[in-house]
Amino acid sequence: MAVYAWIGLGNMGGPMTRNLVEAGHSVRGVDLDPGARAAAAAGGVQIAGSVAQAVEGADAVFTMLPKGEHVRAVFAEVLAAADPSALLLDSSTVDIETSKHCHESAAAAGFRFVDAPVSGGISGAAAASLCFMLGGEADAVQAAAGFVEPMSGKTIAAGGPTAGIAAKICNNMMLFIDLMAASEGSQLAEHLGLDPQVFWEIASVSSGRSWAQQTWYPVPDVVPSSAANHNFEATFRVDLARKDIGLALEAGERTGVKLPAAELARGHFDALIAEGLADKDCSLMVKQVSPDGTV
Ligand code: NAD
Repeated sequence: MAVYAWIGLGNMGGPMTRNLVEAGHSVRGVDLDPGARAAAAAGGVQIAGSVAQAVEGADAVFTMLPKGEHVRAVFAEVLAAADPSALLLDSSTVDIETSKHCHESAAAAGFRFVDAPVSGGISGAAAASLCFMLGGEADAVQAAAGFVEPMSGKTIAAGGPTAGIAAKICNNMMLFIDLMAASEGSQLAEHLGLDPQVFWEIASVSSGRSWAQQTWYPVPDVVPSSAANHNFEATFRVDLARKDIGLALEAGERTGVKLPAAELARGHFDALIAEGLADKDCSLMVKQVSPDGTV
């Protein structure tokens, strides 16, 4: 049994920590949000009063926070309070510079750090089938693979420091481009008079298949995991999706790679945010392509 400290018990951190508890580990969690704390406590997480309390004596310290700025702020508290034998892992989706900062500041303080972002959404988090992409020194990555095992279906060593987060940024760009395809395809099918379930089944065994089409199909009552079934209550918030596509576009600018499809996805998310829908699910992008803007 290992002792985990976990900072960020939201849509992803909540179910991930539940799986650690179910696997018999001890988890000490921290979150700013009382609702997230209560849900995690119901799943067996011991709620700590501060980051310092959570990390004391922990074998592994995970951060699962919205953005780079949150990770940087919390990371400073972690480095000040954790035992240097603890392995530090960040599973948030952040910019490469933030991840580099974590690697460098951890090494300077005598810690091992691994960038450990995940793919699979909240359904993968609940089912303990997430794909972890690990970036770091070989010995730290090997140790990380053991700590992530109770939450993962697949763990891949992506390469050296920041390789995991670089892979995650590329992956999510592909996801949101696929979500555009699922949004446009679902709307066109509906307005051509097709039965949504029948068209979804055809696409599922045809070349229109994708993870977004399979899991987030933005039409109510077609797939159980779709946010469309619950008025687009977030499983992956619009503002976080906007952050991720922005990370890809920044990387594109830096490398000179042209990303016109990613620019279109950014436009959809920006429009939703301008309408005050930042907290809704990112699959609400379907609204942008419906003939009258309703879904
Ligand atoms: P979320 O907003 O549901 O959860 C983040 C939690 O962090 C919130 O509960 C918030 O209260 C807490 N928090 C923020 N600042 C804090 C602080 N200083 N101290 C303690 N707690 C703090 O977000 P999420 O959907 O769980 O995503 C977390 C990260 O994982 C993001 O980087 C996201 O891009 C990434 N991600 C999300 C998904 C998904 O499907 N939702 C999938 C893969 C990766």
